[in-house]
Amino acid sequence: METIQHDIVIIGGGLAGLRAAIAAAETDPTLDIAVVSKVYPMRSHTVSAEGGAGAVIKPNDSLAEHIKDTITGSDWLADQDAVELFVNEAPDEMIRMEHWGCPWSREPDGSVAVRPFGGMTIERTWFAADKTGFHMLHTLFQTSLKYPTLTWYDEWFATRLLVENGRCQGVTAIEMRSGRLRLIAAGAVVLCTGGAGRVFPFTTNAAICTGDGMALASRVGVPLKDMEFVQYHPTGLPGTGILITEAARGEGGILVNKDGYRYLQDYGLGPPDPWPRLRAMELGPRDKLSQAFVKEQQKGRTIPGPHGDVVHLDIRHLGEKEIDERLPFVRELARNYVGIDPVHHPIPVRPVVHYMMGGVHTDVHGATPLPGLFAAGEVACVSINGANRLGSNSLPELLVFGARAGKAAATFALDHPQPDDAALAAQGRDEERRIAGGFLRKEGGTERIATLRNEMTRAMETGCGIYRDDGSLRSTVETLARLRERFARIRLADHSLTFNTELIAALELEFMLDVAEAVTHSALARTESRGSHQRTDYPRRDDARFLTHTLAHRTAGAPRIDYLDVVITRWPPAERVYGR
Ligand SMILES: Cc1cc2nc3c(=O)[nH]c(=O)nc-3n(C[C@H](O)[C@H](O)[C@H](O)COP(=O)(O)OP(=O)(O)OC[C@H]3O[C@@H](n4cnc5c(N)ncnc54)[C@H](O)[C@@H]3O)c2cc1C
Repeated sequence: METIQHDIVIIGGGLAGLRAAIAAAETDPTLDIAVVSKVYPMRSHTVSAEGGAGAVIKPNDSLAEHIKDTITGSDWLADQDAVELFVNEAPDEMIRMEHWGCPWSREPDGSVAVRPFGGMTIERTWFAADKTGFHMLHTLFQTSLKYPTLTWYDEWFATRLLVENGRCQGVTAIEMRSGRLRLIAAGAVVLCTGGAGRVFPFTTNAAICTGDGMALASRVGVPLKDMEFVQYHPTGLPGTGILITEAARGEGGILVNKDGYRYLQDYGLGPPDPWPRLRAMELGPRDKLSQAFVKEQQKGRTIPGPHGDVVHLDIRHLGEKEIDERLPFVRELARNYVGIDPVHHPIPVRPVVHYMMGGVHTDVHGATPLPGLFAAGEVACVSINGANRLGSNSLPELLVFGARAGKAAATFALDHPQPDDAALAAQGRDEERRIAGGFLRKEGGTERIATLRNEMTRAMETGCGIYRDDGSLRSTVETLARLRERFARIRLADHSLTFNTELIAALELEFMLDVAEAVTHSALARTESRGSHQRTDYPRRDDARFLTHTLAHRTAGAPRIDYLDVVITRWPPAERVYGR
């Protein structure tokens, strides 16, 4: 097998990956850097981010307030040193985006505009209409093209991390066009592979968000942190799960039940402010809004629809001009996917899986416990998001920690220039045999990938959704164990090499099973309720036992769970209070 040599290999061409690539290239222009991505970088999930990116810029705001909002939003599970550093560095990163050409929306006086967002008590979310991720990703992509030391491996699918002499020294990847397995050896590897929303049936996430990097890291012994914390966004379109951005509420949209009543006032989220100064209720955090939907459904006050119950998101009072100027994409999505023009009718919405707070365990430099392996972006858990991420904190997180991981990987690669080639080649051949024997040339299997995938996502939704308990989680754990056995008997209909999407889907399903197991076992072990993890059998937060991060370690059987203390510096745990 041909071995390709680079100093650094970055897996992922989304916002975190591109930021890491630029940072590494700027750290030392002699470093030779590979960017591997299973899709063209501009098709990474970041492109679909809509609402905006939070960072302190206005005189009425302060770093202390952004820190406080983030820690409160996390239900005190975020590491406070990491949050502080994130909030301090985010404004510079955002201004750098401006210098690189990001077309931020403006105030009439020309300064950068900000909008309110859920759980942020002060307006601090920068935006580019409601296509923020699209513009940010374009900006970084065009900037990255300036660096001749970057080599692009688009439509290459990473299958395994290579570890030799106790450090990560490369990756094997399928070149999808030829179907050939290649080995990329490098002094340092950075995982920027994004989230895993596809482990659930109803999600805002693109089809490529299958948790590959989380599984790759856990297979080489790196623990996954806080995996039980899965974010449901309160406003997805029924049927497709397409996101209606929180910006719709930031701009003044309200949520009403079947009686036209703003039901959030019944769930401790504050009084119903009159338009145009919404502060509470609809601008509460996502975990609480999604939980309120379930409660409202139990009271029979939601609206039945062909794809399950919904509530209504009403933005009609904003008027056509404002909707077209600030929320053009919301109008386009509602028209195209539910046949409703929000200028004249309310939009049907329901909670939808949106974001993984958990991920690969890293420090604030993106370093994992395995030397030479770094991670940043949604795949990683630093953690600044704790038990519930605030809307608009992810995009700046990709910049801050993407840059940090890129720099740290560059420093590491400069100190470790020579990969152990012969030993790596043996691992490459081993991986080639695994893919041929276990997938492409496998005989006698009967199980179909789509069937197993559907059963997995259904089990996750029923047993490990917005509310969970011991019984529901145990039943999902058992289903996943059975699916794991059945996976050993899968059958591929396509044995060809060129763009074998069935093979890719099989490898992704195997990654997703790893992720699903980490999520459910972590959720089963955390016998308290905090943020997005709500146990009906343990309804209270239990700081005495669980002011800790969960670490799930992969084993031959069920994941082994242990814990790590949360870093508390200046903000002692308190009650989460909104809208008062
Ligand atoms: C619809 C939607 C709207 C959102 N809106 C906002 C918002 O307004 N504000 C906000 O802060 N956050 C928002 N988020 C969250 C945020 O956009 C994501 O968390 C973030 O974009 C993830 O970026 P990333 O760089 O970590 O990964 P991604 O952008 O998902 O990129 C992952 C990359 O990894 C590559 N990859 C994955 N697996 C492999 C493999 N096996 N081999 C090779 N390459 C691989 C992919 O090709 C891709 O290039 C939104 C999310 C969604 C889904």
